[in-house]
Amino acid sequence: MDSVREEAAGLLEGLGVARTALTSGLREVRSPINGEAIASLSDTSPAAATQTIDNAWRAFQAWRKIPPPHRGELVRLFAEQLRAEKEPLGRLVTLEAGKILSEGQGEVQEMIDICVYAAGLSRQLCGLTIASERPDHRLTETWHPLGVVGVISAFNFPVAVWAWNAALALVCGNSVIWKPSEKTPLCALAVQSLFERAATQFGDAPHGLSTLLLGGREVGENLIDDARVALVSATGSTAMGRAVAPRLAARFARAILELGGNNAGIVCPSADINLALRAIAFGAMGTAGQRCTTLRRLIVHEDVYDALIPRLKAVYRSVRIGDPRECETLVGPLIGAASFELMRLALAEAASSGGVVTGGERFDADQHPNAYYVRPALVEMPAQTEVVRRETFAPILYVMKYAHFEDAVQIHNDVPQGLSSSIFTLNLREAERFLSAEGSDCGIVNVNIGPSGAEIGGAFGGEKETGGGRESGSDVWKSYMRRSTGTVNYGSSLPLAQGVRFDV
Ligand code: NAD
Repeated sequence: MDSVREEAAGLLEGLGVARTALTSGLREVRSPINGEAIASLSDTSPAAATQTIDNAWRAFQAWRKIPPPHRGELVRLFAEQLRAEKEPLGRLVTLEAGKILSEGQGEVQEMIDICVYAAGLSRQLCGLTIASERPDHRLTETWHPLGVVGVISAFNFPVAVWAWNAALALVCGNSVIWKPSEKTPLCALAVQSLFERAATQFGDAPHGLSTLLLGGREVGENLIDDARVALVSATGSTAMGRAVAPRLAARFARAILELGGNNAGIVCPSADINLALRAIAFGAMGTAGQRCTTLRRLIVHEDVYDALIPRLKAVYRSVRIGDPRECETLVGPLIGAASFELMRLALAEAASSGGVVTGGERFDADQHPNAYYVRPALVEMPAQTEVVRRETFAPILYVMKYAHFEDAVQIHNDVPQGLSSSIFTLNLREAERFLSAEGSDCGIVNVNIGPSGAEIGGAFGGEKETGGGRESGSDVWKSYMRRSTGTVNYGSSLPLAQGVRFDV
């Protein structure tokens, strides 16, 4: 196979990113596949960031006047570009983030899906007519564009998360500035190039409508602190959310925070074990455990524990790990050395608090000294100790036993995060209780499905330390607009609300 660097440069060239753009600076981009440096880019300077925000502000002022269905046409054209380039863009996701091929392609499909959804939505940004208490009055609610929307994204969904935000933000009449993860800027350059192709086809998209800032945390801070950025949608660790949330609150900016998860599955006595086994395997090992919705905790009824866990261990032993470009691979590499170190430390801590660890070892280190391929770890825990309550962004599944349903739900909810959850049961009462107000406290609740792999039609996000934000479907578009309540008096008298009298 070509070197990853050569392959990435070829893909990027086809997607409209010149080779010269890949050696513009000192920040190295490394592929997790073999640790090779595949580009060295320059960070956006503070002056260039200010200029980008100026341009986005001006673009917003023009774009908000364009009728929404026409704005939707730009997003539709962008979806066509994505359809045409799904294969190379998906492969670039594989090279830069280490996802297996079908997951890289799946991410681009998710972008297409949200664009199609947003294009349709552009004709349905509906307000309300509300019954007025006063005669000859009409009370309405209208949704208006918000302003400049900043998007900060994590490495593990290097293209889809931006699209969830940008597709909606654009049809809602906003401009968008994207600060991608410093670990995956090449995917962002490719997406930007495809967006520019769509904008050229569209014809009259204002300059600066959707742009990029490249670099690390400090570059993202330009979006956090600039009063012209009305909304920041930030996806990443809870530590990142803790840093940005107070700064956004200090200037009363809107925030959509999509932070860490610590997702669990409950396996009940009536569970369809074959179905649960596949769901658990994908949920826990897919994307090498590097999804915000990865299954990290499994709470198994004592009556089915012995029927499930030995089979699960056999799956863990047999799953194909390796170069994500090979079709048979199911588990690719970790993003880098720091992730492996955190995994190693978490497994040591789990073992010291009574956990029995299967797997977790690094392999192929001789062949790839700068890449981190690990066998996913399954850890049988005597209780939900501190290490289990933390998100370690690596393929570790902690398994615990329960005897009573109420205890399972209590263990399930007894973590600081609240993103995604699942239950495996054929018992209607258990399923409904888990979905009810007394059940899972997460933003996403699944029955007989693992916690990962959401569709774009629903609102995506979670509670507690996951940040409370929502992206994608349902009525999430309202987060990217401001609401104005209008009252019109079409009569000739002036009745005051609540019967107040003020006769002059
Ligand atoms: P990270 O927190 O290290 O970085 C995420 C992004 O935030 C990067 O672009 C980074 O440069 C930026 N950033 C970090 N600190 C910042 C600051 N103070 N100001 C401005 N920008 C800042 O996360 P990561 O390692 O890239 O991704 C993994 C984490 O993201 C996991 O915790 C995972 O659960 C979470 N995640 C959550 C969701 C979700 O929807 N809830 C989705 C994907 C990933």
